[in-house]
Amino acid sequence: MSPQTHPHLRRHRRTKIIATIGPASSTPEILARLFQAGADVFRLNFSHGTHEDHAARIHAIRALEEECGRPIGILADVQGPKLRVGRFGGGRVHLQTGQEFRLDLNPTPGNSRRVELPHPEIIEAAQIGAMLLLDDGKLRLRVTHKRDDHLETEIVVGGPLSDRKGVNVPDIVLPIPALTAKDRADLAFALDHGADCIGLSFVQRPEDVEEARAIANGRAWIMTKLEKPQALDNLDAILALSDAVMVARGDLGVELPPEEVPLAQKRIVRAARALGRPVVVATQMLESMINAPAPTRAEASDVATAVFEGADAVMLSAETAAGQYPFEAVNIMDRIVARVERDPGWRATTEAERPAPEHSSADAIAAAARGVAHTIEAKAIAAFTSSGSTALRVARERPDCPVIGLTPDVTTARRLAFTWGVHALITPLTHSMTETVARAARLVQQEGFAQAGEEIVVVAGVPFGKPGTTNALRVASAK
Ligand code: PGA
Ligand code: MN
Repeated sequence: MSPQTHPHLRRHRRTKIIATIGPASSTPEILARLFQAGADVFRLNFSHGTHEDHAARIHAIRALEEECGRPIGILADVQGPKLRVGRFGGGRVHLQTGQEFRLDLNPTPGNSRRVELPHPEIIEAAQIGAMLLLDDGKLRLRVTHKRDDHLETEIVVGGPLSDRKGVNVPDIVLPIPALTAKDRADLAFALDHGADCIGLSFVQRPEDVEEARAIANGRAWIMTKLEKPQALDNLDAILALSDAVMVARGDLGVELPPEEVPLAQKRIVRAARALGRPVVVATQMLESMINAPAPTRAEASDVATAVFEGADAVMLSAETAAGQYPFEAVNIMDRIVARVERDPGWRATTEAERPAPEHSSADAIAAAARGVAHTIEAKAIAAFTSSGSTALRVARERPDCPVIGLTPDVTTARRLAFTWGVHALITPLTHSMTETVARAARLVQQEGFAQAGEEIVVVAGVPFGKPGTTNALRVASAK
């Protein structure tokens, strides 16, 4: 693949695709195939792998970006305070429903009566009656007695339990920050290696986001993963502090009853869209494709639902990181998204759910650009954007035509890979309106979005290159 053979490499859909990479998908050849199949962003999962592994992946992604001449987003997803039980003698036990089970601070191997829970904060914060969910919620324990150094529980739902399985405590607000010592090291590594966005796991409070923001200090976006019910209680404050959010249905689906998850997803997507923050729907989208070359009907429908809701991106996890059919998974996701977006019903839904512009000149221009583009059936809206904000505000309007984000800043171009409908291009700063319009007219044509003579809408801010000045709109012909 070279810029010569793919001069106009573009997607034929608005909703972006994020592919998690892992053991099944980290060689330069596989990354290139995933990108060609439709992956716009690659996600590195810091729950697994060494810094050396991640450095090699980042290097390979940047080399691919160079080769194909398109900006590619990198999401560095840090693990957060994932709670786990200790180890068992023999590696696994069976917990019998109705029996008692003790969770303590004793690191000796556990058995079917007790195991270590190396998190004194849980023991401290637990109330009698609180539920502990083990191994993605497959096992359930109810707290019956609480002592300084252990909890006695009743096994409400038993089953097999093995070493280091996860523990979820939906009823308890834990007095722990969202960043562990490992997360801090991973965050520093990811920032040093040029990750575009940091995924922040198990956020409970707005302060958790503030802390990560302060460390990132503008070097990367902060994507808050919404996977704790406590975070949903603080949704507006958390969204306001986040650059982007993820509906992290894996852990959210353990902590909430299954019937609540679709509603939480809808609520989060709607709230994020209202603020114009990119929102990702994640986990189990094409889960069966880990082992099968085609998705189930329910999975196809799930991807379609996220597109109808207006998510900025849909995400693949184990499907691409460890599955047997990573390319097929990206390919079918690309096809489902593109098919939904050709449906007139999708346009009507998108239109009906469009939030009103906020009271700023940027939103006035963005809304006007959409209106003008629709009236004249423009082929594209070209948005000059240095920080990315102008392109984000135009994308928030969910216009029918593609948004071309023109920016001098490679970091901005990469961040726009997460954003609905935006095809980002790196181009030097312009200095006059005449030059700006001429540049847009040429690039939109060159990239294959319009033919010479077809109309486009151009939005920009004067003075040029100064963020926060979106104030100009022009209609032009591609040439
Ligand atoms: P994870 O996050 O894959 O890092 O757990 C996503 C989720 O919980 O859905
Ligand atoms: Mn999770």
